[in-house]
Parts: sequence; C-alpha cells; structure tokens
Amino acid sequence: MRILVVEDEGILRSQLVRALREENFAVDGAEDGEEGLYKVTNWPYETVILDVVLPKLDGFEVLRRMRELEITIPVMLLTARDGVSDRVRGLDLGADDYLVKGFDLKEFKARVRALLRRRRRIADNILQARDVTLNLGTGMVDRAGERVDLTGREFAIVAELMSNPGAVIARNQLYERVVDETDDSMSNLLDVHVCNIRKKLGRDFIRTIRGRGYLVEAKDGDWEAL
Ligand code: CA
Repeated sequence: MRILVVEDEGILRSQLVRALREENFAVDGAEDGEEGLYKVTNWPYETVILDVVLPKLDGFEVLRRMRELEITIPVMLLTARDGVSDRVRGLDLGADDYLVKGFDLKEFKARVRALLRRRRRIADNILQARDVTLNLGTGMVDRAGERVDLTGREFAIVAELMSNPGAVIARNQLYERVVDETDDSMSNLLDVHVCNIRKKLGRDFIRTIRGRGYLVEAKDGDWEAL
C-alpha cells in the first residue's frame, strides 16, 4: 500500500506525506510533474495524490500521460478553491476524485481511504483470512477475537498479503509495496518482519514458498496445492 504525493509546496507535501504514513501507508513525495510521472511509472503505487498547478508538467499533463501509458491507478487531484473548470477538466481526463485546497487532514485521510476502498471493492475495509481480521480503516487487527498489536510495517505487510489471499506474492514485489523512499533498510528486514508477524499471528499464518515468495492462505491447505 504505497502512495505517491505530487505537490510542489513543501510544507503541504510534508503534511500530506506524514498524514498518510500515520495511516500505515508507505508514502513517497514528488515536487514537480516530471518527478511525479517518473515515480508513478517506476514504482507500484496504489494511488496518486496529484496537485494541479505544478512546475515542469502540470497535474493534467501528468494525468493525461499516465492514462496514455495505461496506468489506471486512482488519482486524486488537489485543486484551487475557485478551480471549478479544473475539476471538470480533471474528471474528464480520468481523475477519480478531487479535493479543494484548504481541506483538513482528517478529510484528506478519509477521502484517500474511500478511494482505495472503491478500487478494492471491499465493502467496509475488512480483510479476513483464517482466524485473523484486519481493518484497513481503523488499523485494528484481531486474531480469534483477541486484539493484536502490529507495528506500521508489519501491518502493511499483512494487509498486502491478506488483500491477495491464496496468491503467492514475490519478495521483491512485497518489499516495493510496503517500503517508501525513506526506507534504506535491506530487504532481509522483510524476513525479520515476517518472523515477528508469525510470533503474533501464528507460525503458519504467512507461508514461505521457497524461491517464489510469501502467501496467506485463503483456506487451509492452499499452500500444499502449490
Ligand atoms: Ca502547486
């Protein structure tokens, strides 16, 4: 669950990045349209927050080129207070939502969650696998009805695997989706996190498929069929 924030105003960009990291997302920032387009074509983001007025390439052009490249991830535009025509143009170009600048961070976070929920078509943000329930909205995790505390990174890893139950997720794919540019940690930290998650959620909750990656079973015994 990695998100890109393209915004040239440094203070606002930092606030948005920080707000999303608090929600356990891995978040990168970009300070102009070119950097934004470069990042969105190179990393597996789940959504992009895109300012309209940007240096180098404006938000419309970034959006237009993304869609031309068939990058279909949801885009939320940040528009000026009086930018009615901007909103219309953005939606015509394939933006999924917009926020008018001056929004508060709570609303921002709620709108991002709603955007992701629509994309995943998960009714109420609840993921379930075996005896584990994970709420993407509240960040709460239960195992057999008991509350479990996961760190932000552990939560992100479990959410990624539980979003695709029964599917093997390659190590590097998982890694790229749960870290962001502030993480210079080695990929073997993934092993450390997985080990800690197993202590909390059960030894067999995350299966290692040798040479292929990790798996959370949709139902018992899935991994044996692989
Ligand atoms: Ca701007």
